[in-house]
Amino acid sequence: MPRQHSSHGPGATAAPEEGVALAGAALDYVTDAVILLRHDWAIEFVNVAFERASGRQREALIGRNYWTSLPGVMGERFDAEARAAMQLRTAHIYEEFNARLSKWFECRAFPCEQGLVVLFIDVTTRKADELTRVDLEEKLVRIQRMESLGTLAGGVAHDFNNILAAILGHAGMMLDELPPGSPLRSHMEQIKRAGDRAREIVQRILAYARGSGHELSKHRLRPLVEDSLGLLRSTLPASVRLTVDLHGNDCVATVDPAEVQQVVLNLCTNAWQAMPGGHGHLHVGLRAVQFDAPHACAIGRVAPTRYAELSVRDDGHGMAPEVVERLFEPFFTTKPRGQGTGLGLHIVNGIVHAHGGAIDVRSEPGAGTVFLVYLPVVSDEAAPLDTSTLAKVADPGEGEHVVYVDDDPIVLMMVEALLKKAGYDVRTYAEPGACLEDIEQGRVPVQLLITDFNMPGMNGLELAVAVRETLPRVPVIITTGYIGDELSDAADRMGGVAVLQKERSFEELAELAALALRGFPESRFLDTGLSPL
Ligand code: ADP
Ligand code: MG
Repeated sequence: MPRQHSSHGPGATAAPEEGVALAGAALDYVTDAVILLRHDWAIEFVNVAFERASGRQREALIGRNYWTSLPGVMGERFDAEARAAMQLRTAHIYEEFNARLSKWFECRAFPCEQGLVVLFIDVTTRKADELTRVDLEEKLVRIQRMESLGTLAGGVAHDFNNILAAILGHAGMMLDELPPGSPLRSHMEQIKRAGDRAREIVQRILAYARGSGHELSKHRLRPLVEDSLGLLRSTLPASVRLTVDLHGNDCVATVDPAEVQQVVLNLCTNAWQAMPGGHGHLHVGLRAVQFDAPHACAIGRVAPTRYAELSVRDDGHGMAPEVVERLFEPFFTTKPRGQGTGLGLHIVNGIVHAHGGAIDVRSEPGAGTVFLVYLPVVSDEAAPLDTSTLAKVADPGEGEHVVYVDDDPIVLMMVEALLKKAGYDVRTYAEPGACLEDIEQGRVPVQLLITDFNMPGMNGLELAVAVRETLPRVPVIITTGYIGDELSDAADRMGGVAVLQKERSFEELAELAALALRGFPESRFLDTGLSPL
């Protein structure tokens, strides 16, 4: 270890100098870089750590002027801070990133009798931890903001949905009133169409706000495919001939309906985009198939059982084997920049596998393409009463006593008007507790209970259960923005309970009410030995 302090000969008694020498030697063991500068900026001392940090040998430094030998070496800020500390005789402490060494230093410059003593402490690890923490905190804040935005959007969408329901309900009633030839009809129809579009968008926001969007419940696939094709028709070029062959009426699967729609839309969009000049034939099919083991293995990743097969066939340009091989890779596209994202099939694949299904592709250049999507079918007995396929019930009400409960005043008013118009004697409650009390006290005649699900204090299902204590056979319709598995299962178990998507109320509630009053055909009342009213 080089020495810059002269050692003292034997018998020397200069204890202070000895002390300085010892201190200098000791400082070589300190891992922080240390430099001692005289008042005239001559370098008096550097330790080993300083040699390492500066990349200079101490022989080349000791006795030299700092400004001729070291400026800028210990960081851009050091020169100014050191000058200030020297002149003002105050301690200067700061942190700086040294780009040359890729390290963070905490620099501590202290004025002393000889001039200035400076410590450079390597704080890189602490800094990195701090930065990671800040980064994580920022990320967390962003995630939380997204979450609250989701909740907010969900809340707004929920209210908006109710307002839309009022607009659509009034439009519908007005359409009923207008004579066939009235010039106002087309305006009303436009209002209704625009409202329907808005409702779809709100549904999407609601689905998104509910979480990842992956919300599974039992659905008949055919109406879902029909709905998707309805959405597709607005974007499909008129030059594409669309044919549809939907069987599998009994195909019930546990799916996220929005995701199934996304699958249909993505496959159909790819299909027509593969048609030269947008001219061609697109065919969509649905049927139930039974897989034996070898076939199931050939498709891959599916177990031998019953599946719904959704097919999307086009007579477009087809695909070469190299393309087929990479189809599901994210960002794989053969389309020009700005036209394809390469995400469509990646998403489709993810959705199908998340549903326990599989995809098969058959394609050849010039010979068109078929995509076959397989989704496992569940027993359809447990399917919720599918209100979308209800036969329209022509017979109007004959003053039957219907009790309707909803905490939303706009919807309450609308539904009341609608049910009255359909010929029912309606009694409304904005509060489930009040309704229950009246029923328990026998103050209100009830042949049918219709209730919103989501209400403060008591939800629709709890109300139905409580009402059944007094009126064990009363049929119940629960309207809700979202039909989850839990609700449909509970409704199933109770029997005589139908669950209706809230936005469908205006089209379907009156008919469903008529059906309920006659006794649900699919109702479990029959199983439990109770007969409907
Ligand atoms: P994008 O449509 O954005 O390109 P996709 O993931 O939906 O992304 O599709 C990836 C690629 O697969 C397309 O660029 C196209 O080359 C090919 N492809 C998908 N469907 C078809 C089809 N029906 N006919 C021909 N090629 C297709
Ligand atoms: Mg695509």
